[in-house]
Amino acid sequence: MEFRLDRRDRFSFACRACGQCCTGKVIMAGPHEILGMSRQLGIGTTEFLTLYSANGGTTLRNGADGRCLFVTPSGCRVHPSRPLVCRLYPLGRATDAAGGERFAMFPAQDGCRAAVGTDGTIADFIESQGVEPYLEWSRRYGALYGRMLGLLERLGVEARLDPPGAATEAGADAAPAAGAEPLSSWQDIDASLAAYCRARGIAVPAGIGEAIELHLRAMGEWLDDLEARAPAASLGDAEDDDDKGAGRT
Ligand code: SF4
Ligand code: SF4
Repeated sequence: MEFRLDRRDRFSFACRACGQCCTGKVIMAGPHEILGMSRQLGIGTTEFLTLYSANGGTTLRNGADGRCLFVTPSGCRVHPSRPLVCRLYPLGRATDAAGGERFAMFPAQDGCRAAVGTDGTIADFIESQGVEPYLEWSRRYGALYGRMLGLLERLGVEARLDPPGAATEAGADAAPAAGAEPLSSWQDIDASLAAYCRARGIAVPAGIGEAIELHLRAMGEWLDDLEARAPAASLGDAEDDDDKGAGRT
């Protein structure tokens, strides 16, 4: 797929919500997206991760038939809080190191009855899908992921990082430990914020935006502390890495 389009290019898309394109996909979901979907479903992020996630909490789980668990006969069950990749579909987005972006259109799903046209622009489509805050959250979490990956590289491939609220209840003061997969506890905003706020005697924010802001701050502080206490760097300037945010969305 060649990423040649920009926001000024003519594009419009009217989906019929048949759900056929929600089969056989790997849908990435960051902590902020998991929080939004959890709130819509009326459950916590810990329960969401258990019921609906795969790959260490980084993707949505598909059913045995390959369909996303949120497909219903009338469309997406979590449509108002669907992840970024679902908002952008049928567009994909790629960014370069300088922050420039380009778009491409995925090949049409077999049987798709959506109307593709030129009634608007890609910018119009992005606005209509509520994409912008998700791009910003993805960029900010991507920067933190980059720092975390740099830290893991410093500590060695066997290292494990437990953010505040991890299942070990190690808390923000825990030193990096050897062992398992790091990402699922990182994804769990409710658990992370419960531990962070409990340790500081502050209330957990009720709003989604406020909770995401505090989680970003908590993760940043946690990484600041780990980086300060980790052995001397052996990989250079991982702090400025922005791998996840710089990838395709
Ligand atoms: S979250 Fe919704 S839009 Fe995205 S794959 Fe699942 S059912 Fe489809
Ligand atoms: S297959 Fe086409 S019409 Fe059906 S949900 Fe996907 S984009 Fe919409």
